[in-house]
Amino acid sequence: MMPAEDLDAEYPEDDWLSLSGIQHFSFCKRQWALIHVEQLWDENYLTAAGHIEHQRVDDYSESELRGDVLSIRGMRVFSRHLGITGICDVVEFHRSSRGISIQGREGLWEVFPIEYKHGTAKTIDADRLQLCAEAMCLEEMMVCSIPEAALFYHKTRRREVVELDDSLRDTVRADFQQMHQLLSRGSTPSAKPSKACDACSLRNLCLPELMNKKSVSNYIEMRLHEFVTDD
Ligand code: SF4
Repeated sequence: MMPAEDLDAEYPEDDWLSLSGIQHFSFCKRQWALIHVEQLWDENYLTAAGHIEHQRVDDYSESELRGDVLSIRGMRVFSRHLGITGICDVVEFHRSSRGISIQGREGLWEVFPIEYKHGTAKTIDADRLQLCAEAMCLEEMMVCSIPEAALFYHKTRRREVVELDDSLRDTVRADFQQMHQLLSRGSTPSAKPSKACDACSLRNLCLPELMNKKSVSNYIEMRLHEFVTDD
């Protein structure tokens, strides 16, 4: 495990985490741990919709040049400092004198990642954190600076430009550091039942109701009673 205070240190590849896990972590730390520490997964309609829409984007591993914008779909990215890897839906390169040079293309280009999401913009920062993590990977890989990026929501067909400020970046660093610590300890945070549980893909595996009962035996007794009275 990398020491918490050593920002220049790098995680070995074997310890890299899935970049997209930061969405789960932001939604609920326990949900992230159930998926990534305990390797459980239960697909509900929300995650299924997300997969189908992502397939449409990830289907084309090709680049396309339109005017001064070069788009690359399904680009694999990583950060040794954060110890993460993942795939960017689309990375746009905008021709600009403030940009960087890229292999096989003339001129200078600014880097602008775009993440596609189903539904509409969320009140929590999950999507923005994932997008920021993608940008931080690209910055490390391409030695560049990415001040902003965008989220595209399928339902509203709108592109939301996100400023990648220090606060978002600090949260990305802190979240991944905590994920690395939880994974290395094999530790899963306990359930904190909230409204989020209603849309949680792992509700049936997490059983947050148990947290409100005095004991597991009380819970089982209650469910058995429900079963008998339903008959
Ligand atoms: S059911 Fe609730 S507490 Fe359990 S993982 Fe889902 S959101 Fe977290």
